[in-house]
Amino acid sequence: MTNLADLPLRADLVGRSAYGAPQLVVPVALNVNENTHPVPPDVAEDILQRIRAALHEVNRYPDREFTALREALAGYLGHELSRNHVWAANGSNEVIQHVLQAFGGPGRRVLGFPPTYSMHAIIAASTSTEWVTAERDADFTISAPTAVAAVQRERPDLVFFCAPNNPTGTPVSLETIAAAYDATDGIVFVDEAYGEFMPADAPSALTLLPGRERLIVSRTMSKAFAFAGARVGYLAADPAVTDALRLVRLPYHLSALTQAAALGALAHAPEMLRMVQEICVQRDRTAAGLEALGHRVWPSWTNFVLFGGVEDPAALWQALLDRGVLIRDLAIPGCLRVSAGTATETDAFLSAFAEVTGRSPVGSRA
Ligand SMILES: *Cc1c(COP(=O)(O)O)cnc(C)c1O
Repeated sequence: MTNLADLPLRADLVGRSAYGAPQLVVPVALNVNENTHPVPPDVAEDILQRIRAALHEVNRYPDREFTALREALAGYLGHELSRNHVWAANGSNEVIQHVLQAFGGPGRRVLGFPPTYSMHAIIAASTSTEWVTAERDADFTISAPTAVAAVQRERPDLVFFCAPNNPTGTPVSLETIAAAYDATDGIVFVDEAYGEFMPADAPSALTLLPGRERLIVSRTMSKAFAFAGARVGYLAADPAVTDALRLVRLPYHLSALTQAAALGALAHAPEMLRMVQEICVQRDRTAAGLEALGHRVWPSWTNFVLFGGVEDPAALWQALLDRGVLIRDLAIPGCLRVSAGTATETDAFLSAFAEVTGRSPVGSRA
C-alpha cells in the first residue's frame, strides 16, 4: 500500500485537493443543489423505452456527433440556435474541461471571481491552466467596471462568470458580461447552470451570442431537469467553438444510453420544468424562514440560498446533520448554503434549523 506522496504525480497537481462535497445517506439532502423531485413516472417510462431501444444497438459505437441530441438541445434553448451552435458532454463539468483543454492549458490563465463554483478552479488545475482571481463588489455583485479592470489587470486567456453564481445565488448582469467581452481577446465563458431558475423576465447570456464568437454559454440538465445522475451538460457558442472542442473530446464521449436518456427528458421539457416553479416557491420559503430567524439572506436566482449571520458554521452544519439534514459549508465566513427541496424537505430543514438555534419554527407551509 503506497500513498499519493510516493507516486510520480505531475508537479502542478502536488498538494491539490479533489472536489469533496460529502456524499452521505441522510433523510434530507440539501447540499449539492440537486433537484430533489424525482423524474415524473410517465417521463421515466418514455426514457426507459428509449434506453431499451438504444440497448439493441449498443454493440456499435454511438453517434459521435450526437446529432439528434444537439438538435433537441438547440430547439430547447431557442434563441434561433441550431445544432451547429451546440456542444454537449457528460455533465457541464466535462463541457468546462473541454473548453479549458481547447482554450486554456500550460502558459494560459483563466480569470474567475470567487466565491464561485469550486470546479472552475479544479478543472483549471487539472488542465494546467493558471487560475487567477479578482474581487467582487459589495454583496457579491460584479459591476462592468470591476470586471473590465480585472481583465485589464490580469490579461487572462479566458474569463469565467457563473451567472447566477454558485454558491451565492446572485446574478451577473449582461452589461458586465458584454463589457468583459469587449475588454478581452480571449474566451468569455458564462456558466448558466441555474439559468432555468432565473426570473422569467431576466435575459440569458444566450441573447448576447450573436456577433460574439468568443462567448460561450453553458447549461446543464443536472439541476432544472432533475438529471444529475444521467450526466448531461451542454453549451451554446459560435460553431467554430464547437470545432475547437472536437479537437479535445474523446471519440464517442457521450454514450448511446446517455444520448437516449437525454432525448427522452428533452421531449418532455415542459413537464420537467414544471418542477422549477415549485422549487422556486420552496427557495423563497427557505429564504423567508431564515430571514425571520434573523439571518442575512442573499437574493437568489437559483435553487439554493446562501445565508449569513452564522456564528459557527461548522457546528451548525453538524447539528443539522445530526438531525438528518445535510446542507453545505463552503468555508465562506459566517455563511452556509442550503438547496431548495420539496415542501416536505423545506419543512424539515426549517424546523431542524429552528430547533438547533433554539428558536420557534417559522415559515411553515401555508
Ligand atoms: C451544479 C453545477 C454545475 C453542474 O455540473 P454538471 O457536471 O452538469 O452536473 C455546473 N456549474 C455550476 C455552477 C453548478 O453549480
